[in-house]
Amino acid sequence: WSYGSGYGGNALLGKKCFSLRIASYMGKQEGWMAEHMLILGIEDPEGNVSYVAGAFPSACGKTNLAMLIPPLSQKGYKVWTVGDDIAWMRIGEDGRLWATNPEAGFFGVAPGTSMKSNPNAMLTTKKNTIFTNVVQTPDNTVWWEGMGVEPPSHGIDWTGKPWTPDSGVKGAHPNSRFTAPASQCPSISPEWENPKGVPISAILFGGRRAKVAPLVYQSFDWEHGVFVGATMASETTAAATGAVGVVRRDPMAMLPFCGYNMGDYFAHWLEMGKKIPNPPKIFNVNWFRTDENGKFIWPGFGENFRVLKWILARCKGEVDAVESPIGYLPKPEDIDLTGIEDEVSRDTLKDLLSVDKESWKEEHKSIGEFFEKFDRLPKEIRDQHAALAKRLGI
Ligand code: GDP
Ligand code: MN
Repeated sequence: WSYGSGYGGNALLGKKCFSLRIASYMGKQEGWMAEHMLILGIEDPEGNVSYVAGAFPSACGKTNLAMLIPPLSQKGYKVWTVGDDIAWMRIGEDGRLWATNPEAGFFGVAPGTSMKSNPNAMLTTKKNTIFTNVVQTPDNTVWWEGMGVEPPSHGIDWTGKPWTPDSGVKGAHPNSRFTAPASQCPSISPEWENPKGVPISAILFGGRRAKVAPLVYQSFDWEHGVFVGATMASETTAAATGAVGVVRRDPMAMLPFCGYNMGDYFAHWLEMGKKIPNPPKIFNVNWFRTDENGKFIWPGFGENFRVLKWILARCKGEVDAVESPIGYLPKPEDIDLTGIEDEVSRDTLKDLLSVDKESWKEEHKSIGEFFEKFDRLPKEIRDQHAALAKRLGI
């Protein structure tokens, strides 16, 4: 039962309530996983497709990554969208982890979605789409802040009141939404309705970190990867809470959605790692590092493809990495910067990949305080925390 939570994705009971809360518990009992993850396929110029799943907390870029369009310089590559929010994963006969998207459509935040930021989402919502809490225009269509087109001279705002661009208030609610059939997405994968799912090569964790987390790093192994997921964090923006830089931990982006004890949930992840003969490699990504002026250093969006490429090269054993206290880091020269050399210099990239020991000592302490909240934290996770301390020289 889910009572009194009819807000955002919770309003659609098949979504978070069933596909994550109830399904996560079913997965625990039956030996599979229901996760808050996007699923995408990356097709290389030879036509081989590799699949990646990724858990980021809400508003940290799942939908954008799932619908990514590779940069022009990456000739012959294509990204296929399998799902943008939820993955059900089970062990396949081949010993790999296979993921399906249990959803029929996308339920995305409208503000900020434009032909520039996410053309695939805009094209998906051209027809058969329900919009909620956006501006209704005089010609009976919709508008929102950051849509990339001129606002209507007047319209009806999300509260139902007459609105003009000079009203001094937002016309669309910041959490206004579109919901549209996945089949209408130009990048929808031919495999998206395959009940077998798709085989996952890599799992990504991530959030919004202004400083601490590098652009990408790989966990040492599955168990360390579970620790990386369990300590995932995002920093709040002023818009959300009024306080800048408050670190919120959201393990595997499942804190609001796990249907049972979080300590037992970590134990289930550890258990699955032992059962999957050929488990995905686990990575952490951070598109949100900022400079001293608070500006994002990494261009993000389509350019994130460059990071995905390194991740797949790691999965295939095609590229070396540098061992650091937190995991394996790319050598700066191994991230393809073709076409964005002017925007991202090798020095900037070095910056993006740097791991500051002092900040990580703070991070280690903050993780310890977070772990105190759990009554059934598995020993392996505590051991990982201790091992990190040792590697940091604490
Ligand atoms: P979701 O809730 O996890 O599906 O996140 P969305 O994909 O809807 O994105 C949430 C917000 O993050 C939007 O405002 C996006 O424009 C922004 N965003 C997504 N990807 C990136 C990125 O790579 N870099 C930056 N700077 N912002 C991004
Ligand atoms: Mn989303």
